[in-house]
Amino acid sequence: MARYAIVTDLNRCVGCLGCSVACKVANNVPIGSFWNKVLRIGPYGIHEGSVFPDVYTYFLPVSCQHCEDPECVKVCPTGASQKMPDGTVQIDKSKCIGCQFCAMSCPYGVRYLNEEERVVEKCTLCEQKVAQGELPQCVAQCGARARFFGDLDEGLESFKGAGKIDHSADASYEAVLSEFCTLGEIAKPFSEEDVHHLPDVGNGPSFSYILRNRDWKGDE
Ligand code: SF4
Ligand code: SF4
Repeated sequence: MARYAIVTDLNRCVGCLGCSVACKVANNVPIGSFWNKVLRIGPYGIHEGSVFPDVYTYFLPVSCQHCEDPECVKVCPTGASQKMPDGTVQIDKSKCIGCQFCAMSCPYGVRYLNEEERVVEKCTLCEQKVAQGELPQCVAQCGARARFFGDLDEGLESFKGAGKIDHSADASYEAVLSEFCTLGEIAKPFSEEDVHHLPDVGNGPSFSYILRNRDWKGDE
């Protein structure tokens, strides 16, 4: 049993969209649809009423939050949408009838109908890669090492990111990428107040966002 999730360090994210593109390639996501979008939040004044250049923005990657108590599973009339023992929410395409009740019930709009297959799709947390001990593609390809994958039961510090930490002069690219770093090694200190979630309307989003020294606008 586990509770797999992703935590994104928003102070590290540079909004490059690498995670969106990597996800589309790895999961063959149709043109015009996304399992992972990166939203630009802001600009906002650093202080009340301040104007450029005293402003800030940050970037917010949004995908299925693999919720603890997801409405999309409750409204599915065929049992196609399921909460799995590893904490992820998956869609059994053989049972999906394309009614889209789940897409309408998701508070974050992360599901869509695949018009060709007439089934609903969304982020699977790269279950095919995780089963082989790899990272979800959006985590593995994050050039800023802003994204980390792990089990909530083991704590955010243990979440893994792309590439081990190796400052030796002869560290090869392949060797660095063959192992993982952890959020505990990479991230600047943060407190509980710096850890945020998308608005919870009873669904219990599992993903976390770390944002320090800025106002979290994710509830708006
Ligand atoms: Fe379901 Fe939406 Fe939660 Fe994903 S984010 S588990 S689609 S309610
Ligand atoms: Fe941000 Fe990393 Fe995604 Fe780029 S790949 S947008 S840095 S989370």
